Amino acid sequence: MWVRKNDMEKAEEEKVNKKIRFKGSIKFGILIFLLIAIIWPVAAIIIGIVGSKNPETADAAMKIGDLPKYIPGFLRLAAMMGIASFVFSAISKPKKRVTTMMCNSCHETKIKDKATQCQCGGTFIDSDNFKWVEDQQQ
Ligand SMILES: [Zn+2]
Repeated sequence: MWVRKNDMEKAEEEKVNKKIRFKGSIKFGILIFLLIAIIWPVAAIIIGIVGSKNPETADAAMKIGDLPKYIPGFLRLAAMMGIASFVFSAISKPKKRVTTMMCNSCHETKIKDKATQCQCGGTFIDSDNFKWVEDQQQ
């Protein structure tokens, strides 16, 4: 049967969700870091040193032999972008994915919409407020 989750269960669920989102944000930050750490040196070699202020090297393609010299700079920038991506991802509000509603009285379900009144007189609320438990047989 369907039962309402109590506040403790919902808080526990929220904690788990936060953990999952936090891990996702870390992965996102690492991904951005890797992308920049790989793409930028490659672009620098092919196109030229991106962002270089030295007029002698600004438009010239970077020599592969020069790469070690620039690696700390690339890594620093990639790390900064990675951290920024992590922070941005971590503070952005998650989108609620609940798409179904359930009546709190007869447990009828429907696709989420604005109408909350059920035919039975109950009220439709987001289905993530409920959990399924097996009937207890004595
Ligand atoms: Zn109902």
